[in-house]
Amino acid sequence: MCGIVSYIGPKQAYPLLINGLKRLEYRGYDSSGIALINNDGLCVYKSKGKIADLEENVKNKNIEGTIGIAHTRWATHGEPNNVNAHPHFNETMDLALVHNGIIENYDTLKVMLKKNGYHFQTETDSEVLVQLIDFMRKKPRTNLLKAVQLALASVVGAYAIVLLDKNNPNQLIAARKSSPLVIGIGDNEYFVGSDATPFLDFTKKVIYVGDEEVVVIPRRGDIMITTLDNTKVDPIVQHIEMDITALEKGGFDHFMLKEIYEQPESIMDTMRGRINVEDCYLQLGGIMDYKEKLINAKRIIIVACGTSWHAGLLGEYLIENLARIPVEVEYASEFRYRNAPIFADDIVIAISQSGETADTLAAIELAKKKGATVLGICNVVGSSIARATNAGSYTHAGQEIGVASTKAFTSQVTLLILMSLMIADGKGILEKNQKKALIQELMRIPEKIRKVLEKAPEIQRMSEVFTFARNFLYLGRAYNYPVAMEGALKLKEISYIHAEGYPSAEMKHGPIALIDKETPVVFIATTPSNHQKNISNIQEIKARQGRVISIILEGDEEIKRLSDFYIEIPDTEEEFTPLISVVPLQLIAYYIAVARKCNVDQPRNLAKSVTVE
Ligand code: GLU
Repeated sequence: MCGIVSYIGPKQAYPLLINGLKRLEYRGYDSSGIALINNDGLCVYKSKGKIADLEENVKNKNIEGTIGIAHTRWATHGEPNNVNAHPHFNETMDLALVHNGIIENYDTLKVMLKKNGYHFQTETDSEVLVQLIDFMRKKPRTNLLKAVQLALASVVGAYAIVLLDKNNPNQLIAARKSSPLVIGIGDNEYFVGSDATPFLDFTKKVIYVGDEEVVVIPRRGDIMITTLDNTKVDPIVQHIEMDITALEKGGFDHFMLKEIYEQPESIMDTMRGRINVEDCYLQLGGIMDYKEKLINAKRIIIVACGTSWHAGLLGEYLIENLARIPVEVEYASEFRYRNAPIFADDIVIAISQSGETADTLAAIELAKKKGATVLGICNVVGSSIARATNAGSYTHAGQEIGVASTKAFTSQVTLLILMSLMIADGKGILEKNQKKALIQELMRIPEKIRKVLEKAPEIQRMSEVFTFARNFLYLGRAYNYPVAMEGALKLKEISYIHAEGYPSAEMKHGPIALIDKETPVVFIATTPSNHQKNISNIQEIKARQGRVISIILEGDEEIKRLSDFYIEIPDTEEEFTPLISVVPLQLIAYYIAVARKCNVDQPRNLAKSVTVE
């Protein structure tokens, strides 16, 4: 999720590592740390806050050493503080580890390790990994490489790691699964990074570590790559052509586009450790203590602003439909001032990407004062909303840099789906087979989003046709109504074109007056349960010379024929449709904004985290 940089070679490691961390700052982080081996043994320094805080912390400390590992953390498990910052070490303090990603089964492993006499200092999933490696190392005929292989074989989740052994200052061990890691080959020296930005000034020769591969990086000689079952893998050396700015954006032109493309992984990260197809597992750890309250709730109130409010509206449809509990969705800014009745048995769910949204925080305080239970859904661990609520779940979407939210939205919706299913299951509404089928389908969503992303060139060509439109209408029914509003918001935010999202049937109660050949209508028509109604609406638009861009299910020939442009998306359960149908809308907004030469990542007048009323 966040940043790793490591070094082994003839030079002093500290300046390379610190500068490398600074290069990774664009990824966002909440704390950082560094481990070096020198005359004092293994030295570990960690600081909450900025890299400048870490630099301050190491003043007058021993920062010698020609081998070291460093990390910027974006917390997923445990508050961002000095203790939870990486590197983590084992009890005897001879192994230090940096980790990006999430270890899903860390709880089970922690219980096992505790039974075997291990003690833990941090709340992180990552500390479990270094202690597990230590545990494995004690098995007979097990060297450090084998211990790493054994430990990783028993881990479920995503990881990019680098390990430092005090007793062997001539070697680093690195490994990865579902989280990027790249080795830089310098002159008699090696670098490791979560991407190549930290070492691009020194080398452009790299090896991308493959999934479930472990790399032994020696001070002298060639690196050795093995699989977890110790089969040797031939390294493939590549040359990087990109410059630093292109690399920071993962080769994409903007952070927003990168984040749109990250959605298959970020949705996976939201589900990580919370569902499991084999044993039909479905649980949101963070709100476990409130599960009974949720199951028995008479009413749920969702408070949020902006894109999070659209996710909240989907939350209403999901919870009411699947879990049969009445839900109200409120703009936090209205809720706090309109003297709404709030009861002690209400459950209030506050949604915010940053966890710092001022209006949402105020709404939480109000709900608490009235005695309601308040749960949070945020992306930033340890944020004000996470601290102000009784409990909550993190979306784990990773840092979102583009001001217009994309991946944070789909992660919020994913979390609300999980929450609705968990409540429905707890109420006995879901049959076992139905639950299994839904979990299975959820796991297929990332692949289906990838299929939509493959259509980007086609969406780009189409978007360029509409670059000069002055107004857009977005229409959708049922689950696609909040999606229509989100699509319109994206377009407004980054292209400055006026756009409105409406429920399709509301069209004839007003917006139809706007329709003419100058006003494109984006019609999201992917819900089979009201196919015929969608067709009638599209015909009404065509009859008024409107131009229809339809988002349809693959093979929907009827709507295809009626539309000026169409984008086909894969079918899924109706409840999960928004996760897929919002993606072409994000791309339409993006490509129109680019064609209009707008500042996509930092649109005028907008801020990423709205900390004022
Ligand atoms: N899950 C780990 C933690 O919370 C790693 C987070 C990261 O990738 O920065 O410490």
